[in-house]
Amino acid sequence: MTAKKSIVPVFVPHLGCPNDCVFCNQRTISGSLCPAGPEDVIRALEDAKGKTERAELAFYGGSFTAVPEETQRALLSAALPYRAMGFVTSIRISTRPDAVTAEKLALLQSFGVETVELGAQSMDDEVLRLSGRGHTALDTVLSAGLVKAAGLCLVLQLMTGLPGADRDSDLRSAEAVAALAPDGVRVYPTVILRGTALEALWRAGKYRAHTVSDAVETCAPIADLFLKAGIPILRLGLNPTETLSGGEAVGGAYHPALGELVYSRLYLELARKKLRAKPPRSRRLRLLVPERAVSRMTGRGRCNLLALRWEFGLEEISVVGAAFPPETVEISEIL
Ligand code: SF4
Repeated sequence: MTAKKSIVPVFVPHLGCPNDCVFCNQRTISGSLCPAGPEDVIRALEDAKGKTERAELAFYGGSFTAVPEETQRALLSAALPYRAMGFVTSIRISTRPDAVTAEKLALLQSFGVETVELGAQSMDDEVLRLSGRGHTALDTVLSAGLVKAAGLCLVLQLMTGLPGADRDSDLRSAEAVAALAPDGVRVYPTVILRGTALEALWRAGKYRAHTVSDAVETCAPIADLFLKAGIPILRLGLNPTETLSGGEAVGGAYHPALGELVYSRLYLELARKKLRAKPPRSRRLRLLVPERAVSRMTGRGRCNLLALRWEFGLEEISVVGAAFPPETVEISEIL
């Protein structure tokens, strides 16, 4: 048994959702086929009891605050005994921006919910419309304000590569999300799931897939923006699952290690910026990065080092770990 606190997810696919976003097939994303009930909460927590000492219960998927109040109460009540015994130390839910009111938040707080995740997805109303979201950017601004005013922890979810979006509009959305000062963000580049309206649009040639390489290009500056603003990125890219990897992700930015690819690009850009700002005199360089970022700086198959070597006409380039803060690159010239 580990003393670590673990997240115990309970998926509520499509539960309470009045909508059909073009990209959504919650059952595929979560791997779960039917909406969770109180018994699922108890089962998930009992399973977790053998594996961890403390748990954060997370209701993911669906639109928690849009389900009937009785259902919300039943799901949250199932966790009360586990809270009383100190096993569940916090609860988080995710929901739609237009399903938040001060009263709904008060109900959540009465059951000990501490974190509310809002699916902002984009801050561009045209992108939201084309994606069938059924809410506006203003809904996100107002609901984020309500969550913060209630003293709850706010997490915003953003998607890149949705219909009507491009790199610039996704960057603007990220800036607008950062301006709401969330306590964390999750960034999900669009994946085309089997059986969704987005798949039909894509197959009809009416939507250009957001490829893994598009996602890396778009998300590297977005990650930079959030990190510079001191906003933790809790997730970058869909969690890999057997269902997704087994063929349900038919196109778009699905990659089991998408986050690593994005952070690797971020380090490449940091090194480029440094080298452009102060071109080295030597053709032999050593890049100093945080210990844990050596492989990110190096890139898959040493792709970042090969790119820098080519772009800056270097003879030799290597990476060394140092006791640096995250997202730091220093250049040491070998004279
Ligand atoms: S609001 Fe959420 S659960 Fe509902 S269709 Fe859209 S993505 Fe799916």
